[in-house]
Amino acid sequence: VATPIGNLDDITLRAINTLKQVDIIIAEDTRHSLKLLNHLEITKPLISYHRHNEEEKTDMILNKIEEGNNIALISDAGTPVISDPGEFIVKEALERNIDVVPIPGACAIITALMAAGVNTRNFTFYGFLSLNKKIRTKELEQIKDNNNTVILYEAPHKIKNTMQDLENYVDDRKIVIARELTKIHEEYIRGKISELISRKEEIKGEYVILLDLNDNEQEDCSKKEMPLEEQYEYYEKKGLEKKEIIKQIAKDRNTNKNEIYQKFLKK
Ligand code: SAM
Repeated sequence: VATPIGNLDDITLRAINTLKQVDIIIAEDTRHSLKLLNHLEITKPLISYHRHNEEEKTDMILNKIEEGNNIALISDAGTPVISDPGEFIVKEALERNIDVVPIPGACAIITALMAAGVNTRNFTFYGFLSLNKKIRTKELEQIKDNNNTVILYEAPHKIKNTMQDLENYVDDRKIVIARELTKIHEEYIRGKISELISRKEEIKGEYVILLDLNDNEQEDCSKKEMPLEEQYEYYEKKGLEKKEIIKQIAKDRNTNKNEIYQKFLKK
């Protein structure tokens, strides 16, 4: 069951009803979740379930379901399973033919995308970049080759370091930091990576990082002034329809759409 990512009103009626109806709630941090449950006036037995005990507790929890209990899984905030515990128990439950029902709601990735003003057609979510140097390098290499919007989660004290790594791999691209979403200090900070790195004030709170690599690629493409055919194929590979490609080429070349259209009549 998804719970709010800040504003306590961001919970669905179905989520509230489900939490009222289940026999047991499993939560990442039971003390943290108690605040939400008290606010909703829901009293249920709670079982703590987090990254460090998920494998050990899964069997016991699934046994309880097989004994006839309905159980809801929540995380500290947002959608469980997404950069939060849950993937393991969902897989195990399915192995044991136990029904798993998603109750959707707030999710920081989607909330951030809603007002970031970036390309939302294709996006790649990396979650938190790995702290393991080798894996992190691999992830950064993948980001470098990515033409989509890249979305990352990051912990507050690691943001500068992560932005520095991003700058090293993707150059000084445009970046959006969606901060404290749904909370009082909600803010979208936009700029080039270097501008955000050199900011004097610390970027406090929780945030989602969005890199619109697609947008930058389009700018690069117009700068390079590649041959028309090549430019057409470039956009075709990105999945654009003929009409959209012609519009985009006309925009890149600052020319009339009909002129470009004439050149691609036979396509
Ligand atoms: N499962 C949750 C979800 O998808 O909504 C995310 C859990 S993850 C452990 C926590 C990270 O999500 C934070 O470090 C931050 O990157 C992002 N996040 C959670 N709440 C946020 C908020 N209100 N504003 C911005 N980012 C948030």
